[in-house]
Amino acid sequence: MQDVTTIPNWLAKRAFMTPDRVAIETGDEVVTFKELHEHALHVAQQISYYGITQGDTVAVLMSNSLSMVYVIHSLKYIGAKTVLLNTRLKAHEVAYQLKDSQTNLLICDDDLQRVGKESVSEKTLSMVTASELFKSQRKEIDVIEEFSLADADTIMYTSGTTGQPKGVIQTYGNHWWSAMGSALNLGIHEKDCWLIAVPLFHISGLSILMRSIFYGMKVMLHHQFNPKEVNEAIKEKEVTIVSVVTTMLTKMLDELAEQQYPTTFRCMLVGGGPAPLSVLKQCVVKQIPVYQTYGMTETASQVVTLAPEYSLSKLGSAGKALFPCDIRIINEQGDVLQANQSGEIIVKGPNVTAGYLNNEQKTRATIKDGWLHTGDIGYLDEQGFLYVLDRRSDLIISGGENIYPAEIENVLRSHPSVADAGVTGVSDDKWGQVPYGFVTLQSNVSKEEMMSYCESRLAKYKVPKKLFIVKELPRNASNKLLRRNLLSLVSEKSEN
Ligand code: ATP
Ligand code: MG
Repeated sequence: MQDVTTIPNWLAKRAFMTPDRVAIETGDEVVTFKELHEHALHVAQQISYYGITQGDTVAVLMSNSLSMVYVIHSLKYIGAKTVLLNTRLKAHEVAYQLKDSQTNLLICDDDLQRVGKESVSEKTLSMVTASELFKSQRKEIDVIEEFSLADADTIMYTSGTTGQPKGVIQTYGNHWWSAMGSALNLGIHEKDCWLIAVPLFHISGLSILMRSIFYGMKVMLHHQFNPKEVNEAIKEKEVTIVSVVTTMLTKMLDELAEQQYPTTFRCMLVGGGPAPLSVLKQCVVKQIPVYQTYGMTETASQVVTLAPEYSLSKLGSAGKALFPCDIRIINEQGDVLQANQSGEIIVKGPNVTAGYLNNEQKTRATIKDGWLHTGDIGYLDEQGFLYVLDRRSDLIISGGENIYPAEIENVLRSHPSVADAGVTGVSDDKWGQVPYGFVTLQSNVSKEEMMSYCESRLAKYKVPKKLFIVKELPRNASNKLLRRNLLSLVSEKSEN
């Protein structure tokens, strides 16, 4: 049998198969697959006018919009690799990613051109704004008719929660298999409409765009997240699936108040980080079909998902590995651990990245025998349900006991006066390390009360040795908590 190593240009194929189906709806525009294909081709010819050819690298600094979607698809028509940049990055961070990826052209939104200009210092690199590009002349191209599954399609720099950002290569095959895994898990319904209010420059958003092409499914694209607008889209515009991170879900639940979603709404996919039990319980009460997921940039989105029928019995679990994937838990020696033993989560599957761009050393250290070493700690229960505990690098070891900051943060956040919480480990002569807690408040509470709240809910060694009330917690451009920066918030004088 012949090896299947290529796939037809997927948007061209979709436009051929179901040209008149709606591909994308925004607030004021509706675009069919045929129109999307025509736009992508047009923009590809404009990008080609800027000298971009097959094998080149183009970076995109844009916010969710139809223009951004056109650019993303058009680059595949040329055969150029796409670097998706986080729009909240500072100029020096953009500059790092442009240089590291050896980008040839930067395309940026008009309102981001200041950051764009500041970050483009290399002579080999040019920049164009979206409005300039869309007005530009065109140059004929040989449209790529087949994608090779092994070829790099997109590059995303991980948020750098644990250090210097690394360029994760997502191949055409990674996207294809990720979408297949999701379809085998959730099914494809004729009336499906998946809402994107997460950024397209993250795998959570981009993967929905890919699924839309493969499944022939409508996407509702929001420029940015607004809880009221997302709730309205679910209630009134027949959205059936939404992808969210926990902070989005919390705001949507608040806005929803006593109302409920229609029964046609079939999936609230929650990923990107741990979902607090209090939020999951609220969803169960409101009969929201919540699917907890675990995944990362390196796995081209979800790799483990919990079906709603287990929402209660397996509360807090991220679920089981999707069909083409497998997970294991290993100890530091690399031995596979038994049920209920915690260790590093390793993942294998066709959606696992080909590696880190221009970083052979990091790639070899992370992917061994096809297994991606996630750097996350977790365990599998007897039935194979995964529980993610925390990142290995954030683990606190106190008097020989493992302490997971996420567990303490969950307790702190469950206090009605606490808005947000972060926990980090600090060296201690007696215990090796001890946890320090940091909270932002939404109403007044004394530190003494907070401490006794923790003492009644946590084993003694997990109770924060010190607690700090701060104005804001350090977060990166992806809004993830930077635990390693927590200590810099306080001087020893303000301690308690
Ligand atoms: P970096 O690798 O540069 O530190 P990052 O890991 O934050 O950045 P992402 O790929 O966006 O970048 O995030 C994936 C990570 O998010 C996972 O490795 C895991 O730590 C966390 N995560 C995702 N889903 C869950 C979940 N359901 N429960 C707990 N943690 C999760
Ligand atoms: Mg990571």
